[in-house]
Amino acid sequence: MIELDGSTGEGGGQILRSSLTLSMITGRPFRIINIRANRPKRGLMRQHLAALRAAATVCAAQVSDAEVGSTTLEFTPHCVKGGVYEFSIGTAGSSTLVLQTLIPALLYADVPSVVTVSGGTHNPKAPPAQFLQRAYRRVIEQMGANVDIEIERFGFYPAGGGEVCAAVWPCTRLRQIELMEPGAMCKAYSEAFVARLPLSVAQRELACIGEGLGWPASQLHAHALEHTQGPGNAVLITLEGENATEVFSGVGEKSARAEAIAGNALLEAQRYLASGAAVGEHLGDQLMLPMALAGGGRYTLDHVSQHAITNAEVIAHFLPVSITFEQGEKFSTCTVRTNTAQ
Ligand code: AMP
Repeated sequence: MIELDGSTGEGGGQILRSSLTLSMITGRPFRIINIRANRPKRGLMRQHLAALRAAATVCAAQVSDAEVGSTTLEFTPHCVKGGVYEFSIGTAGSSTLVLQTLIPALLYADVPSVVTVSGGTHNPKAPPAQFLQRAYRRVIEQMGANVDIEIERFGFYPAGGGEVCAAVWPCTRLRQIELMEPGAMCKAYSEAFVARLPLSVAQRELACIGEGLGWPASQLHAHALEHTQGPGNAVLITLEGENATEVFSGVGEKSARAEAIAGNALLEAQRYLASGAAVGEHLGDQLMLPMALAGGGRYTLDHVSQHAITNAEVIAHFLPVSITFEQGEKFSTCTVRTNTAQ
């Protein structure tokens, strides 16, 4: 039984989600204590419980009693089974984080899968659905995975009510890749979405991004969504390079001005562009898991976060790999290697 302490490093939900994914794939059971110990509301929230239940369903796992607020659990997996699944978070919790827990595991299933998760599609501190669709998916496709991601319905935090669907085809042997630079920019655009809010909110966000990046109106797109629960808002900056795509985002909050929401996304995009790295901070903490499954890989990232360091430690509990970060002048390099017996 692998023993994990959820208070180490970042101390967030990613420790649990990465453990679930890797336990499903390796068949190794784990016990985790101090779940999300470094978050203001400790323990399992609905989104984490949904990820746990979804993972347990997909691999017929045995799970110790777990409920909202639980800080300890045990997970004993069985075989990953492909098929058609529907999971509901029941709140505006992030559906993309639930999908990200399942997608790598479903690559190892016996048959293709179609998984629908309802909840939030655009949440603070989580990948927006387009990030999964454009940025994360592009890398795992380069590694040989065949995954399709559709946004069936937008669901902005805190209203929720969204739905994302992923189709995953089995791929038991992921390819090792190196992603060292983004390559020439092929497409660059920003989108701002509003649901039951004035379109001027989206327009102000886009004005801020257009000015910050020196982009003309033709690269800025405002969308008023009908039939979407609201009020809600998100702004995205998509940078599609020859080798990698990045999506920087901000999700509207009641107490925050549109300019502040857009400003954070803008800063992240500017930092990424100035660094010359292949990927940004968030993709940077998420790629080492598929690369570890491939048995190796290398990429450059603009910032090594505590999330990244913690994820590397969690992965090393389950797989015989070493993950290192080398700090360069403008960016860092993450190298994933299989440990060789001495
Ligand atoms: P945790 O805070 O431990 O629940 O983990 C959150 C995960 O969501 C990490 O992998 C973050 O990198 C990721 N994440 C947070 N914000 C964003 C964002 N704006 N875009 C993409 N991924 C994000």
